[in-house]
Amino acid sequence: MKTTKTALENAKTQLGEVVKILNLPPHVHALLEEPMRQLTVKFPVRMDDGSTRVFEGYRFQHNWATGATRGGTRFHKDETVDDVKALSMWMTVKNAVNDIPNGGAKGGVVVDPESLSKGELERLCRAYIRAIAPIVGPWNDFPGADIGTSAVTQSWMLDEWEAINLRNEPAGISGKAMPLGGSAGRAEATSLGVLFATREVANVMGLKVKGLKAVIQGFGKVGWNLAKLMERDGIKVIALSDVYGGIYNAEGFDVLDVNAHVQRTGKLAGYSKATKEISNAEILELECDVLVPAAVQSVITPENAPRVKAKMVIEGANGPTTTDAEAILLEKGIFIAPDVFSNSGGTQVAHFERVQNLHDNHWTEEEVNAKLEGIFKNVFKEIYAIHKEKKITMRMACWVKAISHIVEAMQYRGWI
Ligand code: NAD
Repeated sequence: MKTTKTALENAKTQLGEVVKILNLPPHVHALLEEPMRQLTVKFPVRMDDGSTRVFEGYRFQHNWATGATRGGTRFHKDETVDDVKALSMWMTVKNAVNDIPNGGAKGGVVVDPESLSKGELERLCRAYIRAIAPIVGPWNDFPGADIGTSAVTQSWMLDEWEAINLRNEPAGISGKAMPLGGSAGRAEATSLGVLFATREVANVMGLKVKGLKAVIQGFGKVGWNLAKLMERDGIKVIALSDVYGGIYNAEGFDVLDVNAHVQRTGKLAGYSKATKEISNAEILELECDVLVPAAVQSVITPENAPRVKAKMVIEGANGPTTTDAEAILLEKGIFIAPDVFSNSGGTQVAHFERVQNLHDNHWTEEEVNAKLEGIFKNVFKEIYAIHKEKKITMRMACWVKAISHIVEAMQYRGWI
């Protein structure tokens, strides 16, 4: 029997819940349930050995009532149409929760980027942009980065878009390298946001941040930067994992030293100062204050949720907790900071990047981080108040804020 809901099933369940809370009519539900525009492309890429491979890619624009759409591009071997649909819906909500004046979109290519040479990856990025060029651009939909993409891939994509359109347009692609108009602070932004979310949750739970024990699943862009930032904040990082498995030490890790080991060996396993090695299933069930799933979706399920012992779950990944598992965690008194709020730091700084590009301006990392912190504090205050006042979950508080705003925009446009 299948017990784990997919990302799309979770997104649709979450939408269904907010539709009930806001008492929205069926045609509004139908409009929000699927992306308004879905482009699927097939494109050829010349491989280094002279052969040609045909790839499948997507760019789905979920809703643009509140502004041009934005959202990352995921290069992953298991990328599916349904995942891109779910992620595009979550982007619409994430932008609206965080007062970003854009709708949501998501893109992707079914590819394992690690299997390509640098030249093949560059040709794939350029071919993907040529294929989706008819619907993307600085005033309709601007792709950002996600799993498998980086400042390097984003820079190639921007260069290709500008070559096609014969003009310089840094606001057309976010997450690009700084000399092309990328923002200071982008690399750590998502993790810094997760840290800000942790501080806010600790505050309402009456816990001191210094001395908290944290467990982080995923040691990629989000997990590694977060571990470093948490250690700097006096939080003890007692367990870490990557796709190969995890490591544990009750005394907390020296994160820079762990990273040096990963740079040398390619994985966390084998780190000499770990007191034991653990699996990706075990890491989620450790005794701790803060659990941050920062790897993939649907990892906290009804099967393992009863054994989760953290005081708070701060979602770094998109969709790590299934809707059924969430109910179990809440029943146990665990505080959940939902993904559309807690991992929005990268989206927020991608928005800052666009603002700087459109103003021909550049902000320092201190300015970026200070603005980000202010936004996290304000948004948390707002959603926490909705959560208390309406007696709904923190996730539904986010969705209520977001969907009310989008519905109002659709009404003013005369769509509904
Ligand atoms: P990444 O590819 O840099 O790192 C992913 C990490 O997870 C790696 O350590 C990998 O080994 C590990 N991993 C992969 N599969 C796993 C599995 N099945 N079990 C356990 N670990 C596994 O990706 P990232 O950018 O750090 O993104 C991680 C999550 O955060 C994703 O859900 C992504 O959508 C979300 N997210 C990322 C950003 C961002 O700015 N990078 C922003 C918002 C949300």
